[in-house]
Amino acid sequence: TSNKKKRILEKAEANGVKFVRLQFVDILGIIKNVAIPIEQLSNALDGEIMFDGSSIEGFSRIQESDMYLRPDPKTFAIFPWKSGEGSIARLMCDIYTPAGNPYIGCPRTALKKVEEEAEEMGFSMCAGPEPEFFLFKKDENGNPTTNTNDKGGYFDLSPVDLGEEARRDIVLALQKMGFEVEASHHEVASGQHEIDFKYEPALHTADNIATFKFVTKTIAMQHDLHATFMPKPIYGINGSGMHIHQSLFRNGENAFYDPEDQLGLSDIAYYYIGGLLKYAPEYTAITNPTINSYKRLVAGYEAPVYISWSATNRSALARVPSSRGVSTRVELRSPDPSANPYLAMAVTLKAGIQGIKDKIDPGSQTLKNIYKMTSEERDELGIKSLPENIMDAVNSLRGSQLMKETLGNHIFDRFIRAKEMEWSEYNIQVHDWELNRYLLNY
Ligand code: GLU
Ligand code: MG
Ligand code: MG
Repeated sequence: TSNKKKRILEKAEANGVKFVRLQFVDILGIIKNVAIPIEQLSNALDGEIMFDGSSIEGFSRIQESDMYLRPDPKTFAIFPWKSGEGSIARLMCDIYTPAGNPYIGCPRTALKKVEEEAEEMGFSMCAGPEPEFFLFKKDENGNPTTNTNDKGGYFDLSPVDLGEEARRDIVLALQKMGFEVEASHHEVASGQHEIDFKYEPALHTADNIATFKFVTKTIAMQHDLHATFMPKPIYGINGSGMHIHQSLFRNGENAFYDPEDQLGLSDIAYYYIGGLLKYAPEYTAITNPTINSYKRLVAGYEAPVYISWSATNRSALARVPSSRGVSTRVELRSPDPSANPYLAMAVTLKAGIQGIKDKIDPGSQTLKNIYKMTSEERDELGIKSLPENIMDAVNSLRGSQLMKETLGNHIFDRFIRAKEMEWSEYNIQVHDWELNRYLLNY
């Protein structure tokens, strides 16, 4: 470690870094940071920076509020934008207690635990995300609207697409921070974009997602736009998903690939899919954690509704893209970008490896369009639906021993409590929809 430390200190110095942000995420996946002047970096790398955990959503109680940040040296990156003099770097951190133990409320630690469990079975998980987001205009007061800045006016000579320009700058910023961006494109809805980055080990990918959201919002702001990862900002058009492509590697080889199999998939792959399907009701509260998430998971907008898998069909929850060999993978299509990336990765990996342990048969793939089936036909094939709202999802989570084990009691309880509060607050509101529907009629 002292060698790693030396390298970081040298790099910081060579790049004129004046401040370092020590970043971590809370239970709801919101990125937090403590900024330290460069003079403190050495102490920080020794894990000596303390912060008050009681002010962070879902963290500790007042009496045990001192928390320590332990930076992961692999995550050192310099922000490509400059503010004032000197540049700013960041480090992703794990949270530790004053006694020097990993803190049970730390999502990053929760993911590491599942990764370790997979490693004991001989597997390492790789994940590649496809986060989608909207870029919206701001109003004259600087507040975000839901108007897109996508279409040039009728008489415009050049394409006036502020969104495309912002997206290009986001990609450039990500690349400067070490991301390998595979593709970026405009999505189906106007104002909607997607940036895909290369698959990496699960923890690295979760760090990347957290960083990606932060970078995207920052660059959008510089273009006077608002970037949102809200899953369904506009009724009637596609929402934003965050499909997660997943694969397991064993001894450097893709463990999902089997050239002998009819579909080119190994038993490991089938069992993994079996786990993803079986536990879907239980982990959906984590992969789709907001009330708004469930407005996306409806028929007609390329988002999954039914618990099924397919090698061809995009309507399925789990799809197997056509590439084989080292790229053999499962695409889980339910997660959305409001999810805490560490927890989303932890619960889906856990579901998958439990599938392997218990040799869970995923059943045969669904070749027909499930959306065209009647509910009787679906029943006959045993195709169940994802939870319809956050409270259904939370109730399934609450009953899940597997998820409790994955998240640990602390995160499990705090998460459920936070969601119950959100739901009861939402339920007593009088929504515009109700006024439109009832005000005149009754
Ligand atoms: N926006 C769609 C969703 O909500 C996904 C579109 C796609 O296949 O990329 O999941
Ligand atoms: Mg997409
Ligand atoms: Mg996809």
